[in-house]
Amino acid sequence: MAETDLQHARWDELCRQIEQYNHQYYVLDDPTVPDADYDECMRELEALEYARPEFRSSDSPTQRVAGEPSPHFATVEHALPMLSLGNVLDADAFDEFYQRTSESLETDELEFAVEPKLDGLAISLLYENGQLVRAATRGDGSRGEDVSANVRTIRAIPLRLRHPDTPRLLEVRGEIYMDKRGFAELNAGQLEREQKTFANPRNAAAGSLRQLDSRITATRPLTICCYAIGNLEGAPRPPTQVAALALLRELGFRISTDTEVVKGLAGCHEYYRQLAARRADLSYEIDGIVYKINALAQQEILGQVSRAPRWAVAYKFPPDERMTQVLAIDVQVGRTGALTPVARLEPIFVGGVTVANTTLHNADEIQRKDIRVGDTVVVRRAGDVIPEIVRVVLERRPAHTTPYELPATVPDQEQAQRVRALAHFTSRLALDIDGVGEKLIQQLVATQRVSTPDDLYRLEAESLLSLDRMAEKSAANVLEAIANSRQTTLARVLYGLGIREVGSATAANLADHFGQVARIADASVEALESVADIGPVVAASIAEWFSDPANRQLVSNLRDLGVAWTEHEGAKDPGDGALNGMVCVLTGALESLSRDAAKAALVGLGAKVSGSVSKKTNFLVAGSAAGSKLAKAAQLGVPVLDESALQKLLQNPALIEELLSPNS
Ligand code: NAD
Repeated sequence: MAETDLQHARWDELCRQIEQYNHQYYVLDDPTVPDADYDECMRELEALEYARPEFRSSDSPTQRVAGEPSPHFATVEHALPMLSLGNVLDADAFDEFYQRTSESLETDELEFAVEPKLDGLAISLLYENGQLVRAATRGDGSRGEDVSANVRTIRAIPLRLRHPDTPRLLEVRGEIYMDKRGFAELNAGQLEREQKTFANPRNAAAGSLRQLDSRITATRPLTICCYAIGNLEGAPRPPTQVAALALLRELGFRISTDTEVVKGLAGCHEYYRQLAARRADLSYEIDGIVYKINALAQQEILGQVSRAPRWAVAYKFPPDERMTQVLAIDVQVGRTGALTPVARLEPIFVGGVTVANTTLHNADEIQRKDIRVGDTVVVRRAGDVIPEIVRVVLERRPAHTTPYELPATVPDQEQAQRVRALAHFTSRLALDIDGVGEKLIQQLVATQRVSTPDDLYRLEAESLLSLDRMAEKSAANVLEAIANSRQTTLARVLYGLGIREVGSATAANLADHFGQVARIADASVEALESVADIGPVVAASIAEWFSDPANRQLVSNLRDLGVAWTEHEGAKDPGDGALNGMVCVLTGALESLSRDAAKAALVGLGAKVSGSVSKKTNFLVAGSAAGSKLAKAAQLGVPVLDESALQKLLQNPALIEELLSPNS
């Protein structure tokens, strides 16, 4: 198939997929995928249409307000369309929006009314002479559903406005939502009644409002937050967004207490930071912040596109729910001997961290959620809460899976692995715990007194004495040996952790370079690769080890249990030196310094040291007896430095240009 045909097929597939998601979300109030995964499809579609504008038809999901009025309700025409909002997912995209807007308005300092983006559903409330005569959902933007009877059951919505300034005709727009507590209580009740629970507060609010029986809506904890005036007759339109909000409050409507006016790009980012920090503590769910150009006159200059106004944007928070796949379910043995199932996941970035494992707690929990190996699941991590699997995406379950069954006992293999890891931890080059040999470790593991290294530091005389052939004297010796190992070095601990590919020399280099365990844990693969002796495989293995929250926990447990080592500032971050951005390769034998020392020195100057010569190589350092790399460099025209040139370079890095010039 030609490239264009392939792209068109993908475009078609994305449109269909998004339409199906839309139907589930807007019509059935029962989404199958998290918003972030939906947004990803939408981004891909936008990018495709950007590259291929000829694909973009007027009914593409990128061009329309999604949603369609359900035939179960009478249809209502909106006098003014109810639009969606354009959205941005990160600071760069927000800055672009700001830039674009400030160019259109020919001013550097924009003024925005900022509001939390409540996660509920939009409603239009129509008042004639102060009387609520109609309430409608957004629908497809021009036609919505008449949900008046249901809206009348929501106590926060005034049925009659008694203020003397009430306009003859007033359309108020706002978000109907459910706060976190109301949502939790509703779901608990649904569970008790063995009815379907709601995926999130938005769907609970939409599902509750779009009931065919208003008596059901009346029992649901719905409320409203108003944010705009739609149609208006018999009164002047307020000149700014904040003036509109003030009028709404005056007339008796609920508006957000977190609205503010901010100026300039810095002001926008500052508000984002502040609200993001408070997000978990808010009583209601928000999925971002809405920035609206404050002055009506400026809004009018900017106008709108088919889907959304140009004068507003929703800056979304990083997602706290994502979809991923369960690769395996492993069993861990707790200190008490209890078996804990752990799901190994296709790593996914959610709630600000990469999640690769999550505990499934116990057999009941797995059964309740019916989580199976191979399933696609929704993982949630909100705030600092431990990540969890919220549900299985049943539509994506592969054929022939079977319900998971927890084994009754710890597999032998698992025990053997534990013994090996502990023996390594206690070995001479690691924590050097002489009194704890392999025999004892086997006993400790088999009796489930110890399973991971931190457990050693929790051992007490009593539990040792209950082991076979353990007298008081030997128990005291063991405890003393363990206690003595507490004072140690970072290098020993790093080695002892048993990270694949990290031998004692690598551990020492890591400790020297970074100085602190936290810096190693947070280092990128590139930063790790800049350490002497560490190549891509080792770096990836270290990063992977620290991406597992259980491993990070292990390190922090060791510390909490009194294992102590000194930390230091570490080597200066590479990247600001004279060789910044350069790639070099070392080959052959050097006489005046070791290969590792040369590598460390070059990295210290900002260079990246690579293992093979390619077109991207800036120079090759060739010692004596250099072979194929030297030949390759000659073939590709890569400059070569001999040992004396290398020494000159290390003494005076500013000479680099000169040393690399063809005449030197
Ligand atoms: P949106 O929800 O991103 O933004 C527009 C809506 O924001 C408005 O209609 C209004 O209801 C709401 N809003 C909240 N606070 C507001 C405020 N202060 N001022 C103005 N409006 C405010 O847009 P949308 O078109 O309704 O939905 C698109 C989004 O819905 C997607 O980005 C996705 O996250 C989600 N979605 C998810 C699925 C799914 O399958 N998971 C399907 C469809 C849509």
